[in-house]
Amino acid sequence: MNLVDLHTHSTHSDGTFAPKELVRYAKEKGLTAIALTDHDTVSGAGEAKQAGKELGIEVISGVELSTDYSDIEIHIVGLFIDDKNEYLLKELEELRTKRNERNGNMINRLRELGIDINLDDVIECSGGKVISRAHIAKALVKKGYAGSINEAFERYIGAGKPAYIKRENLSWRKSFELIHNSGGVAVLAHPLQYKLGTKFLQQMLSDLSDGGLNAIEVYYSTHTSADIKYVKRLADMYGLAYSGGSDFHGENKPKLDLGCGYGKLEVREEILDNLKKLRGEING
Ligand code: AMP
Ligand code: MN
Ligand code: MN
Ligand code: MN
Repeated sequence: MNLVDLHTHSTHSDGTFAPKELVRYAKEKGLTAIALTDHDTVSGAGEAKQAGKELGIEVISGVELSTDYSDIEIHIVGLFIDDKNEYLLKELEELRTKRNERNGNMINRLRELGIDINLDDVIECSGGKVISRAHIAKALVKKGYAGSINEAFERYIGAGKPAYIKRENLSWRKSFELIHNSGGVAVLAHPLQYKLGTKFLQQMLSDLSDGGLNAIEVYYSTHTSADIKYVKRLADMYGLAYSGGSDFHGENKPKLDLGCGYGKLEVREEILDNLKKLRGEING
């Protein structure tokens, strides 16, 4: 059985594997395809695709966008996007600028709390491309202000904690526009991670599918077989295709492995084949 992984991160966002290392590792694990879906950037795509060519493994350009739906943040993964699309690149750049402003403001809050940390400390803990709270947390641990990444979030930068600042996100509609405009398929990432009741989740899926959502992550590292069944049923109700991936982050999510997640994940190649067909239909 051929397996794939359609949700992964590299050092271009908050993963610890460089794009080519990620592809090499996927090959080693026997996967036949992976999608690189870094947060807010496609800058790793060229390197990943090159490595894919050399190693004989399919690499799909993707991206993960944080968006607002009502008053919650939901993540939309774009698959098969044209990573040279100028409109997309311009909008992603703007997102990263906003991100950097927010990072600077959070670092200032930390400094006001008496913590000796600056932007360079945080950049040192990142791949230098897209900087997120994951890297601020790492810097806090490295400098001894927290015993673990988790503690850094609990004490300082988790939602509602003293140095937390809400991020200005894209609207979900805008994320669909960007993904579709660059030839991609829009996927709702980790639908159960938002901890929504069935009623709210169904309302959301109804709105998103009316607005152009194409697929949903049925397969995800944390999903039990009951979860898979539940999300499949929702997907069928709203006419969404199935997608799936591990959300691999390397050492930044220890124990979560590429392809197999926490051990039970399995995304069959036919899932990818169906998504490719769908892409063909969307793009005429
Ligand atoms: P940002 O996009 O800057 O808000 O940062 C989000 C990053 O922080 C993602 O990589 C999340 O996985 C990570 N993150 C958020 N909350 C936690 C938490 N409680 N523990 C560990 N990582 C977290
Ligand atoms: Mn992440
Ligand atoms: Mn996500
Ligand atoms: Mn992700």
